[in-house]
Amino acid sequence: SMASPALLMRVVAAAYSAAEKAATIVRNVMAAGDLGIVEKTGANDLQTKADRLAQMSICASLSRKFPMVTIIGEEEVTADEVTEALIEDGHCEEILKKTCPSQYTGIKEEELVIWVDPLDGTKEYTEGLLDHVTVLIGIAYEGKAIAGVINQPYYNYEAGAGAVLGRTIWGVLGLGAFGFQLREVPGGKHIIITTRSHSSTLINDCISALNPDRVIRVGGAGNKIIQLIEGKASAYVFASPGCKKWDTCAPEAILHAVGVTDIHGNSLQYNKEVKHMNSAGVLATLRNYDYYASRIPNTVKQSLVP
Ligand code: AMP
Ligand code: MG
Ligand code: MG
Repeated sequence: SMASPALLMRVVAAAYSAAEKAATIVRNVMAAGDLGIVEKTGANDLQTKADRLAQMSICASLSRKFPMVTIIGEEEVTADEVTEALIEDGHCEEILKKTCPSQYTGIKEEELVIWVDPLDGTKEYTEGLLDHVTVLIGIAYEGKAIAGVINQPYYNYEAGAGAVLGRTIWGVLGLGAFGFQLREVPGGKHIIITTRSHSSTLINDCISALNPDRVIRVGGAGNKIIQLIEGKASAYVFASPGCKKWDTCAPEAILHAVGVTDIHGNSLQYNKEVKHMNSAGVLATLRNYDYYASRIPNTVKQSLVP
């Protein structure tokens, strides 16, 4: 008989189902209408009932299956509020059928770190910009983002009543990324995608210096990476602190063949001791990484200490 699937593939398969369950929670809380909004550090840093329930669901479900894995979630919620109804015990069979890349077959539970953003784009969620929202589960090994799951709970919302909402994109380094159609920006245009609700002079000065053909301002780190892989934008530029490791881990793994760095060009580290803030910003591109990296002004770099 076949050997049992490698731990990494079992974790990704479980994360896929956990993200789908979280997406259902995100839709149900919005449909019920009571968002239970709490300000964390301020009015631009919000938490809703959906953030809390989705985090409890993902973290409790994954830690029950993989007790020795380190799981770091964005929200401060306590495990004793977790009810059985929040637990997802399923997994995606299709993922278990794929072969784990050989460099990852020997990974043990203790060596994995899972970064969870239960609801990315909370500000936009509270404003009804529902297609900006994603659920992010990133998997790191030896400090690198090696696998990730992005669920977009409101994908297909423009198809109208009766359409099936939501999709799940997933990927593993050395295996590939699935659940979307890879496209490039037509005509080699430089289209920059950035924040809509956390803007600053530094962010805008940096974008101007890059002389883009167009700028798209949308919420969510997960949403912006989806726009990159689907050819809507060519670079995600965010010359500011604010974005955290749970925002970038899953998206970075999905963008596996291309660069995701801070504004200085340094790769991001995901070991469990790392500070959570991406203090020196984010630069992610599908193609032409060097075009953007070489044009970040020194004044911007000097303002953003790693
Ligand atoms: P945005 O592009 O504004 O959606 O930001 C991407 C991610 O980083 C989201 O999870 C935001 O909540 C987070 N983020 C960015 N800037 C800030 C900030 N100034 N304060 C709190 N969270 C932020
Ligand atoms: Mg986020
Ligand atoms: Mg979040």
